[in-house]
Amino acid sequence: MPEPEKSTQDQNDETEINLSKAMPITASLDETIRFTYKDVMETEVDKRYFLRRLKKELGHGKINFDVEMRNDDFFLKFDLAGSVFREEEIISVFKRFLSELMNARMWNAHTGRPMMYIHEKSGIPLIGHTAFGIIVRGTNVIEVRPISGCPLQCIFCSVDEGKNSKSRQMDYLVDPDYLFQEVQKIVEFLGPRGLEIHLSGQGEPTTYPYLAELITRLNSIEGIEEISLQTNGILLDEDGVLALEKAGLTRINLSLNCLNPRKARALAGTSNYDIEHVKKLIDIILRTKIKLHVSPIVVPRVNVDDMNEIIQYLKKMGLGRFYKAPLGIQNYLIYPLSRKVKGIKPWSWEEFHDFLHELEQKHAISSLILDKKRDFNMVKRKELPKPFRKGEVVMAEIKALGRIKGEILAVARNRIIQIIDGKKKVGSTVRIKIERTKNNIFTGRLIG
Ligand code: SF4
Repeated sequence: MPEPEKSTQDQNDETEINLSKAMPITASLDETIRFTYKDVMETEVDKRYFLRRLKKELGHGKINFDVEMRNDDFFLKFDLAGSVFREEEIISVFKRFLSELMNARMWNAHTGRPMMYIHEKSGIPLIGHTAFGIIVRGTNVIEVRPISGCPLQCIFCSVDEGKNSKSRQMDYLVDPDYLFQEVQKIVEFLGPRGLEIHLSGQGEPTTYPYLAELITRLNSIEGIEEISLQTNGILLDEDGVLALEKAGLTRINLSLNCLNPRKARALAGTSNYDIEHVKKLIDIILRTKIKLHVSPIVVPRVNVDDMNEIIQYLKKMGLGRFYKAPLGIQNYLIYPLSRKVKGIKPWSWEEFHDFLHELEQKHAISSLILDKKRDFNMVKRKELPKPFRKGEVVMAEIKALGRIKGEILAVARNRIIQIIDGKKKVGSTVRIKIERTKNNIFTGRLIG
């Protein structure tokens, strides 16, 4: 009869703890350990330094540590030659160390760009920039942008997103407590009635690791009647949708630009885009209380005919089950830093509207030209006060690198001011001439 198999501990007097079970973490190992936390926050540390630190903090110099990856899980291994310690102690030391590492250096796992964690003590306000924080455009809709960066790189992306972006240098992730607290202040200002939170951003909001938690909290604020999410859908699955529904999400605006798998991948700029997944997602969303609005971008000569297929598909899925405005086709527009589709001239608004009218007639559907009030209950509300006038010269402090290459972020009077082509160090005080103030989004130019 064969000997019973010995436990790991019996074999080599060693034991281990699976840290991926204790927290949402994965890692890649060589001389350096690269950690990914909650699928998006990435940091790295020299392996020898990591083991030395653990030995110092936990082993009192007696216990030896090592690390191993097994089936995508990160194991911390240690011998028991010295004393025995509790698992919670190890986890707590590891969490502290990880947060120290992330504070020092963090990347967005989807884009590979450095990512800054913006929290209450960072000294960076949440109003003033378009890449993160809060935007209020004088209506009842509060745009909340919790994270920047996107796993896709659509060929027409208006914010040049994705890991091959030529213009973006930085991503941001806003602390959920800070974001919640600042949204509350806006709600107080606007009055607690008829408000919508729209989760969007320069990127994909579902990469935000605290999304469901944030929605749950926003849903508890009096006066918030709609919580909507703009998404490309690739990171959402059934569990994710159900979690968002439970949290209080009321509408999803889903991008869907074509149904042909090859062309859809080409439009998304990545072979990882799976249109079948997005189609399944539509079916999942339609089985929840979440309203669905599909919002394709039509690029002349590229996916014009695909709009017919999309309409037919949505009709087959039962338009009555969608949001009252099931489809919001958008015109491909070019901005100074957007990604441009080679050789394609955008349609004028007139050409675009003619195209929508044709579709309406052809498919016997009404109102493809959307009306913000009728279709999204958007109404005017008082504007947030602007602390600067256009042309005013203000003193400000440089707080961080900006989103676009060459951009820096200055802060004054509780607002962020974007300075393009600013060559000043973080921490320096500068004079800025304010050049834009619309919707409390500020840009300025260094002077003096
Ligand atoms: S999904 Fe949106 S943000 Fe992401 S690359 Fe495409 S257009 Fe840009």
